[in-house]
Amino acid sequence: MQNVGKTYANGTVALHAINVEIGAGEFVYVVGPSGAGKSTFIKLMYREEKASLGEIFINGFHVHQLQEKDIPFLRRGIGVVFQDFKLLPRLTVFENVAFALEVIETDPQEIKSKVMEVLELVGLANKARNLPSQLSGGEQQRVAVARALVNRPSLVIADEPTGNLDPDTSDDIMNLFAEINQNGTTVVMATHNKEIVNSMKNRVIAFEGGHIVRDELKGEYGYAY
Ligand code: ADP
Repeated sequence: MQNVGKTYANGTVALHAINVEIGAGEFVYVVGPSGAGKSTFIKLMYREEKASLGEIFINGFHVHQLQEKDIPFLRRGIGVVFQDFKLLPRLTVFENVAFALEVIETDPQEIKSKVMEVLELVGLANKARNLPSQLSGGEQQRVAVARALVNRPSLVIADEPTGNLDPDTSDDIMNLFAEINQNGTTVVMATHNKEIVNSMKNRVIAFEGGHIVRDELKGEYGYAY
């Protein structure tokens, strides 16, 4: 991102001309107080929100300039995981993960093998026929991670993925992200999980009031909350 700013329609300035470069294969924590601009930073990456200023380059896409019709091409290379999982409640685990592939008209045999492979990776192949309501919170988040990975994206971004999970389950999900990163996928994660940031050391980018105030390799969480 080069001089990227975001002002929302009501005049709130969420980001002020930030500059940041994240290399392929990095693992980055995005930290900072509530309202600092973390979610906005993440939403700009997959064009959920459009930058008001500056330039964003991801995987060869000029994200700030992309036309609406081209946004799906950007998103095919990016997996997104949310705090509240965002699974479709009436679809099974298999169907939730398959959905992203069906949308892009993948061959049914290929869908089956890709979905089962990614469910194996997250340890849920045996729950493929369950509905989300039949799973624990940690299992639901693992389905969401599987869904994010099924297109084999080069970048996975996560906004507070452990925010709704208990500490043990959070550790499992973090280990899954670490494994994904070790397999070569870039991970960018907004988090308030101080214990994990301080124990599983990675790059830390801290936001405050829409500015990047710290950017450290193997950094610390740095806040009391
Ligand atoms: P964080 O993720 O660090 O909590 P956000 O990026 O969600 O921060 O928010 C940054 C600022 O932008 C806050 O002041 C927030 O109230 C504001 N904001 C976020 N989304 C919107 C929106 N859709 N419209 C107006 N203001 C928003």
